[in-house]
Amino acid sequence: MTPLEYDRTHIWHPYASLKDPPRARFVREARGLEIVLDDGRRLIDGVASWWCVAHGHNHPAIVEAIRSQGEKLCHVMFGGFTHEPAVELAQRLSRIAPPGLDRVFFADSGSIAVEVAVKMALQYQVAKGRSGRGKMMALAGGYHGDTACAMALSDPDGMHVLFEGMMPRHYFAAKPGTPGALESLRRVVEEHADELAGIICEPILQAANAMNFYGGEYLREMRALADEFDLVLVFDEIAAGFHRLGPRWAAEFAGVKPDVMTIGKALTGGHITLAATLASEKVADTISNGRPGAFMHGPTYMANPLACAAACASLDIFASADYAAKTAAIADVFSRRLAPAKALENVVDVRGLGAAWVLEMRSLPSREDIDRVIDEHGVWLRPFGKFIYAMPPLVAGEAACRRIADAMLAMASCPPGPQADGDFHE
Ligand SMILES: *Cc1c(COP(=O)(O)O)cnc(C)c1O
Repeated sequence: MTPLEYDRTHIWHPYASLKDPPRARFVREARGLEIVLDDGRRLIDGVASWWCVAHGHNHPAIVEAIRSQGEKLCHVMFGGFTHEPAVELAQRLSRIAPPGLDRVFFADSGSIAVEVAVKMALQYQVAKGRSGRGKMMALAGGYHGDTACAMALSDPDGMHVLFEGMMPRHYFAAKPGTPGALESLRRVVEEHADELAGIICEPILQAANAMNFYGGEYLREMRALADEFDLVLVFDEIAAGFHRLGPRWAAEFAGVKPDVMTIGKALTGGHITLAATLASEKVADTISNGRPGAFMHGPTYMANPLACAAACASLDIFASADYAAKTAAIADVFSRRLAPAKALENVVDVRGLGAAWVLEMRSLPSREDIDRVIDEHGVWLRPFGKFIYAMPPLVAGEAACRRIADAMLAMASCPPGPQADGDFHE
């Protein structure tokens, strides 16, 4: 059995079957914008390996930070110990986070950071003597992760049916941009105020579920409702944060500050898994002054030193250049280059912001056509649902962005394929 055959039959890939799974390409190494396959072919990473590789693959400064940290301390339990990479990263995050979000919980993945945020909202209400408030309000069209609690906060038409038996039920406002959606925020909160602990959303871009961009007025309304009903407002910036849409945080588009914010994906520049939940002093103090006082979460690999060192190096790189300008340059190329897609028969909508660009299709091409375009153009894209999209590394230059956009156009020009089932998200 070749390694690839073993992989096909024994190792699950994301959202894949072990019976006749979609093809997986064997990767030898990756550098900068490129993924190098074992036969030497190179693919430009048009989706930044699920949006996390902000500065390009194997950035020398991040690799060096991981290497030199590894010589001193690869890991130690965070219960009973602390260390420099964790303290330094927390201090640095508090300097770049929206003002006041300076209480930090380090999680090992984005989904866990979301679970932590929701637990914070609940413990906040319990500390205030409101133990009946165990629900969140979330938005239809949203995505917050694959663990049970995070799934339960994601679009209710997604995986809710399959996992109904194990998921808590929350309340959903309408998908932003649909008729009456802005008004539905208040209606849902008023109807369920005595059950709600908080509100959660992906600010400005609903990514992995709907690729839906929406306006800051929704965030301002959620802020007003959270204040009025004493709810914890959680912004999940795991996808949109770190300049994916231009400004460092998507919430800057609305001039609104949440009580709790989750970050992940690009935090380590896409080199090693790490996420964080940042909370305001008010949330942290309320939880700490209540019962049991302790915040009830603590993963084995919490604040892993290698990951914290990688994140510090990534923040250095972010600080060394104007990433908002890089993102604006990326937006410029994609908006011009993708304009002809509007005329394609199978394309419903072309939209984008910063370094996130989407062709919404009537339906996706066949798996074979998608693979053929990837190979012919040397550009890695991973369409899902009805979307052909690009979220390149933020350091992608004009030539690379053009090649990615051209591959998107070529893919969108293919005939519609048979609808795959189980294509819930990216
Ligand atoms: C990817 C994502 C998550 C989940 O992060 P993982 O690291 O995959 O667990 C949560 N929220 C948003 C908005 C995301 O894009």
